[in-house]
Amino acid sequence: MSFAAPALLAAHPPYPTMWIRLWCPGPDRLYQRAFTLVDPDAAAGTFDLEFAMHEHGYAMDLARTARPGDVVEVSVLTRDDYVRPDPLPPGFVMVADPASLPAVNGILPTLPDDLEVRLWLGRQHDGDEDLPIAPHPGLQVTWVPHDELAARLRDGLAGVHGWYGWVCVDTVQTRAIKELLRAATGAGKRDGHAMGYWTKGRSTG
Ligand SMILES: Cc1cc2nc3c(=O)[nH]c(=O)nc-3n(C[C@H](O)[C@H](O)[C@H](O)COP(=O)(O)OP(=O)(O)OC[C@H]3O[C@@H](n4cnc5c(N)ncnc54)[C@H](O)[C@@H]3O)c2cc1C
Repeated sequence: MSFAAPALLAAHPPYPTMWIRLWCPGPDRLYQRAFTLVDPDAAAGTFDLEFAMHEHGYAMDLARTARPGDVVEVSVLTRDDYVRPDPLPPGFVMVADPASLPAVNGILPTLPDDLEVRLWLGRQHDGDEDLPIAPHPGLQVTWVPHDELAARLRDGLAGVHGWYGWVCVDTVQTRAIKELLRAATGAGKRDGHAMGYWTKGRSTG
């Protein structure tokens, strides 16, 4: 879905993985939901949002019923965001799903060509594997059933010591995978990036 918001982008210059909170109408009040800016163009004052569609939720209602010209309120937070590591490690191991693919697609073009990237993606629906992934010469992509991400990663993390770990999937698996990545990369508590994007079986509230 495409948005025009010149004042927002002028006040908050976009950066890779920048996200905003959409205030989505519910039956009694507005509910905030986080979405990642796709292809933000500060000069034109535009950006897109990509919605990983699931059965129900106020953000889904908004996405399904939006019409050209509709207006939505948003808030901008810049907290707990991904910060590109400096110096860069030899590789990135990233774990994502359709909801966090916009963030992955924001990061990949910022990484040098000689950096290795192992991207694990959780498949939720038929056709997920056709979702566009930003090209990168060092990218290796592995799709697995979403619920098996943590289990499959246990055996798939050889040779990533010293790499940067990034995981943004459902909260339960994010927690487990964060520990797996920390052990495999040898990262300290503050290294890497891990954020639960949604909670299985529970509305964001
Ligand atoms: C920093 C950040 C950036 C994000 N960027 C994006 C983005 O660019 N695009 C995007 O699609 N999402 C993104 N998300 C995730 C999105 O905010 C959540 O999926 C949110 O819960 C959707 O709200 P909802 O009203 O549709 O569902 P909710 O009311 O939160 O949940 C309703 C039901 O749907 C289920 N559900 C919620 N999300 C998902 C999902 N992704 N897959 C399967 N089931 C789900 C819940 O378990 C619950 O049962 C981001 C989250 C964060 C924290």
